[in-house]
Amino acid sequence: MTAFRRAPADILAELETLRAGDAPTHGGRVLSYVYDSGMPELDELAAAAARLVQPVNGLDPTTFTSVAAMESGLVGFARRVFHGEDEAGGVVVGSVTSGGTESCLLAVKSARDVWRSARAGTPRTPRLVAPVTVHAAFHKAAEYFGLALDLVPVDPDTGTLMPAAIEERLGDDVALVVMSAPSYPFASLDPVSDVAAICGARGIALHVDACIGGFALAFWPHDLPAWDLAVPGVTSLSADLHKYGYAPKGVSVLLTRGRDRQRHQYFATTGWPGYPVVNPTMAGSKPAGPLAAAWSIAEALGEAGFADLTARAAHATEALRTVVEGIEGLRVVGDPTGPLFAVATDDAVAPERRVDPHHWADAARGSGWFLQLQPGMVQADGTRLPHTTHLTVTPVTEGAVPELAAALVAAADAVRGEPPVDGGALLAGLAAQLPGGLDALAAASDGLDSDAAASLLGAFGLLGGDGAGGALPDRLAPVLALVEALPGPLTERLLVELLARVVEPRG
Ligand SMILES: *Cc1c(COP(=O)(O)O)cnc(C)c1O
Repeated sequence: MTAFRRAPADILAELETLRAGDAPTHGGRVLSYVYDSGMPELDELAAAAARLVQPVNGLDPTTFTSVAAMESGLVGFARRVFHGEDEAGGVVVGSVTSGGTESCLLAVKSARDVWRSARAGTPRTPRLVAPVTVHAAFHKAAEYFGLALDLVPVDPDTGTLMPAAIEERLGDDVALVVMSAPSYPFASLDPVSDVAAICGARGIALHVDACIGGFALAFWPHDLPAWDLAVPGVTSLSADLHKYGYAPKGVSVLLTRGRDRQRHQYFATTGWPGYPVVNPTMAGSKPAGPLAAAWSIAEALGEAGFADLTARAAHATEALRTVVEGIEGLRVVGDPTGPLFAVATDDAVAPERRVDPHHWADAARGSGWFLQLQPGMVQADGTRLPHTTHLTVTPVTEGAVPELAAALVAAADAVRGEPPVDGGALLAGLAAQLPGGLDALAAASDGLDSDAAASLLGAFGLLGGDGAGGALPDRLAPVLALVEALPGPLTERLLVELLARVVEPRG
């Protein structure tokens, strides 16, 4: 018998202390990352289901047949709610994955391999065409799988896309077009039907990324233009169960039209002396817990339960939109669809009446509401997307609307007229303290080694003296302003350093 070095109760007590330092996962105070149904009994069911399959290896559904049964059930549920049951364009099949990123990566890998297999031996690099608002998971997929990423500008005021802008970019090298339903940054519902008709006529694959909003849009209480597998030219669709499927993290679904298309998603080899490896997803051995949790939630809620929870999130979203639209100096970006939206400065009012969305978010954070700051950026056509603040609204938010609304109004009143942080000036000030000044900063990026990156982070006040990530500063607006002002590759390098140092062993 191996004795425990520490008592379990002691270990769990330490973990509870650590958890107390986390941002709150329940109650609707964090308006991104977490998706609270407001039903503790659903969380309990998910935890019990996950615990039942804790020892199972999801790698092999022929050995662990519970995995096959749950995956088949969950894919069937998703296929039904996303209107994939009409087999005219090929039967819709699917996989449960570890999350939205994996669903998106696999959609891109399959499309690339379908494209390649139709062009045996071509040395060309396939292209992925998508609006600039497409989730960063597709940047990652393009990088991992060797596609050129062709980002199409959207309307800088509304974040919406003209179908013709996609059509102009199409050619034989395009392996995949991606539409979002809706997009993460602005909640814009891309013109899926129009783009599907264009892609379908040319035989180009079209993925609908419904990772964030899919399981809410499917039950949305208002009519929407068709956006899912009911649209014939849509060849695949991703939707996260760990977002509006209310499951704990680690579960998403990827649906694909046509068995033959989907078989390109698999990796298979018998070319080693071990067991044949045949995987539809990236991991080998994998947990069945998130699958069991999501499956049990779908079984418990059914369509009616999802519709009810979605109605609550929709109601809260509408109420909050109305509040924000009523705040002088702020505007809701474009025409958001689903339980999320972004907020920008209303430039139509005089500068002293404007509200900077990042100062606003910082002020709201001061009263315990965590909104998400999004940087502005210049698009390929030179137009500028504004910096914004993002709100993802979950069913639990419904009960918090009065308190949240008051906090949003008070936060705006507290910062109205305060100009946005001038990233350029901030940068010049910081650079003045660095040997070599701003020029050294601009030249540095890829060539920066870990220590140089850490000392820059230290100079920016973002790294504790021990090299570990310090606590986040009270105000994030200056950090985001720096992100916007620094050259992209340098910011990326510095953020890599920050995140890597946060998890380095200490002491
Ligand atoms: C969250 C999200 C993803 C990526 O999903 P993860 O679950 O975070 O890996 C992809 N697309 C959209 C639109 C998302 O909101």
